[in-house]
This record gives sequence, structure tokens and C-alpha cells, in this order.
Amino acid sequence: MKPNRLIQLFKDVVAFVIYLLGIPWLVREWICKNKVTILLYHDVSSKIFDKHIDHLIRHYNIISLESLVTAIYNQDSSEIPPKSVVITFDDGHANNFELLSIFQKYSIRPTIYVCTQIINTNRHFWFKIDGLSKKEKEHLKKIPNEQRITYLKKISNFESFYEYNDRQALNIDELKQMIDYVDIQPHTQTHPILPNCTKSECQHEILKSKIDLETMLDIECNHFSYPNGDYTEREIEIVKECGYRSARTTDIGWNSINTSPYRLKAIPITDTAGNVRFCSEMSSIPQRLAKIANTILWRKVK
Ligand SMILES: [Zn+2]
Repeated sequence: MKPNRLIQLFKDVVAFVIYLLGIPWLVREWICKNKVTILLYHDVSSKIFDKHIDHLIRHYNIISLESLVTAIYNQDSSEIPPKSVVITFDDGHANNFELLSIFQKYSIRPTIYVCTQIINTNRHFWFKIDGLSKKEKEHLKKIPNEQRITYLKKISNFESFYEYNDRQALNIDELKQMIDYVDIQPHTQTHPILPNCTKSECQHEILKSKIDLETMLDIECNHFSYPNGDYTEREIEIVKECGYRSARTTDIGWNSINTSPYRLKAIPITDTAGNVRFCSEMSSIPQRLAKIANTILWRKVK
């Protein structure tokens, strides 16, 4: 069996044990009963997403990101029902369009954060370039932005503005069809790791992505998400200066009206998660365990 499949199998077993112990139920009914869970997806299939939403509709209340942010600014949780869930997607993957009928079917309004210089083009996300290993990807997330781009150019025909034959991101027709059902917001222009950028690169990516999207779709953009969930105080200040009302991180946890709107926490969901794994991941325990395991592993690799 390939190592990747073995890891997935191990993760499924861990999720199953967590599920059998009733931890997801305990977390739902006790820890996050009066909190807001922000789910983070990337490129989930419609078949799997439909099953997840079917579960959520029965056990949670799905609200919009705007409702949560408004509650935080007004310091008023009366409009937030118990066990609230906000659904978000990062990057703007082309397959997200397939989910539109599910958003309509369940009358939910998720938020999709898109990279504004990748949508409506045939440019590829740098982390989805053919032949890039997991080890290389992790390395590239840690080095200065300029070095990351130099490295990518060396190993592939990657250029920020290189157009491939196939498309990875949503196009303008799809975005326009989704706009009445989806809150579309910026996730930078090209998905750099912001703390590895110079201050002016960082300002450019955060401000220009807002302008790009507002111009492209004739909408107002108030919400941002940090690529790879990486941010420092500098990024928070820039996001505020650029006029955003909120920013979602990938810090694992739940939100309340006391959460800083520029440090919204999330629960990342595996795009391929079956229902047991999904329920288990709603408790955040598998993600926390994986984070600990990764930290130990990378410390050893170093
Ligand atoms: Zn992203």
C-alpha cells in the first residue's frame, strides 16, 4: 500500500475511534453549543458536500459570515442561533461551481475566498503545480517570497502570469451565476505566504485583490482570508487599513462575539471526508492531533 493511502487509512481509523467515543456529540452539545463554527473547505466534490450539508442541516444552524461579523461588531449574539455554522471555501477552485445547486437546494449562503489574479484565467495555483512534492511545498511556505518564486521558476515553467492549457479556478461566467447565492471575497491575488512577503508586496496583494474583485463583479468586499492561514500583526494592520471588516485564519477553534474579527478561527474539513470522518473533524480533535504530529515530524526533518 502507498504511504499516502496508509496515512489516510490511519486518519480514518482515528476518526472512527473519536466518533465511537461520542466526542463529536459532546463537543457539539457542550463546547460549541453557544459558539460559531466556521468550516473551511477547498475543493470538495458535490457528492460529499451534499452529505455533509445534509448532516449539518439536521444538527446545526447554518448562517452567513456576514451575520457572524455583524454580531461581533454589534456585540449582540441575539441573532446567532445555538450551534451556528458558517461555511467557507478557500482559493476559488473551478469545481466549486458544481456546488451551486446544493447551496440553492439548502438555501445556504457560503463564502468563497478567491485569488483574484487566478480566477478567470488559465493560471495555476503555485501549490498545485505538477511534480511539486509535499516536502518542497512545505519548504516553499517557509522561505522569503522572492526565493519561492525563483525556486518555482527553476523547477517548472511557473510564472505568476503563465497560462496553462487547463483551468484550475472559477471563471467570470461561473462567478456571476453564483453571486446571488455565494458571498465572494478576496484571498489575495496570487496566494503568496504573506508573512514571507515584503511589506509592499503584502499591501499590494491585500489591497489589489479587493479592488480586482469589486471591479470584476461590481460588489463590495469586506472579508479576507489569509493564504495558508499565515498572518502576523503586520498583516492584521494592513487588512484593517485596506478597509476589510474581517479576516479568517486557519487557527483551529470556535468563535463568539468576543472573537477578534481579524482573527476568526476555523475548523478545516478534509475535502474527501466520509460522514464519520466529517463528524469527527467537527470536533476538531483529528486536526489538532495531526497538527501535533506534523510539528514533531517537521522538527525531526529539520
Ligand atoms: Zn488558500
